[in-house]
Amino acid sequence: HAKDKGRGTFSFFDEGMNRDSAERLALATSLRHALSAGELRLVYQPQFALDDQRMTGAEALMRWHSPRFGDVSPAQFIPLAEETGLILPMGEWALHESCRQARTWSDAGHPLKVAVNVSAVQVYRDDFAATLAAALRDTGAKPASIELELTESTLMKDAARFIEVIAYVRALGISVAIDDFGTGYSSLAYLKRFQVSKLKVDRSFVKDIPDDEEDRAIAEAIVRMGQSLKLKVIAEGVETPAQMDFLAGIGCHEVQGFLFSRPLEADAMTRRLVQARSGVAPAELSLPH
Ligand code: C2E
Ligand code: MG
Ligand code: MG
Ligand code: MG
Repeated sequence: HAKDKGRGTFSFFDEGMNRDSAERLALATSLRHALSAGELRLVYQPQFALDDQRMTGAEALMRWHSPRFGDVSPAQFIPLAEETGLILPMGEWALHESCRQARTWSDAGHPLKVAVNVSAVQVYRDDFAATLAAALRDTGAKPASIELELTESTLMKDAARFIEVIAYVRALGISVAIDDFGTGYSSLAYLKRFQVSKLKVDRSFVKDIPDDEEDRAIAEAIVRMGQSLKLKVIAEGVETPAQMDFLAGIGCHEVQGFLFSRPLEADAMTRRLVQARSGVAPAELSLPH
């Protein structure tokens, strides 16, 4: 199905099940040591407001360089980490590292909101709240400098419990974005009860706008839904000026995508923040016209 997420679509069966299981086992074995061996890092992809072209935040995205397998895509290692439970220490590390980085940028005089992806496996654990509070406490990050990205499918696993967890997260002062929005079937009534701040329009709906009429309608419906519920709406995966123009036209608030910036290493992001602040921002920091 064309709207399926990329991570679910790689072919499990065409190469033979045995080879595939052997590969996954080898990958899982390597992944087990990745964190302690220092093979994981975070890169940061800027997010921009469409009205004043300001950088509003950055999404932290996990990267794994394995000595054996090279650079492994998150589409491959995140599901594996979720299946094996490794996502718990990895996710806790990502949370801690994002908070540490947010604190570092804030101390250096260029505060930036860092959005951290959190897996369903983490969110539904009883100790998630404590883990989150510890990350803030240990790093001294301001809660307002952290946003959690939770997918719509995570939300739908247990809506009642989700509402409780989010209430706690919001009470800490941390904001919540619903990632990959539009791929699930959460109702308006539900959304109203979640204390979320932002909807992220899934890349699958951005990809074929403005050509695809259905995707145009879906993007527009999500933006309107966000407006009526007073939520921010950000579109992910924006690659072309035509996509950006369409999104601006329908009143989408924010954008993220290769058109503006690829995910950046932490030091490259720091340089951009420094340049932006000293007023000698390179042209690519502002949105292309
Ligand atoms: P996501 O959270 O929806 O992240 C957006 C993905 O789209 C990222 O892929 C990003 O690099 C990619 N992207 C951004 N702009 C564009 C664009 O213009 N065009 C295209 N083609 N792609 C774009 P990435 O980094 O490979 O991550 C894939 C997924 O892996 C993420 O999707 C997220 O679900 C998961 N992930 C990544 N890091 C973490 C993490 O620290 N924790 C958890 N639980 N999941 C993570
Ligand atoms: Mg995300
Ligand atoms: Mg997403
Ligand atoms: Mg996605």
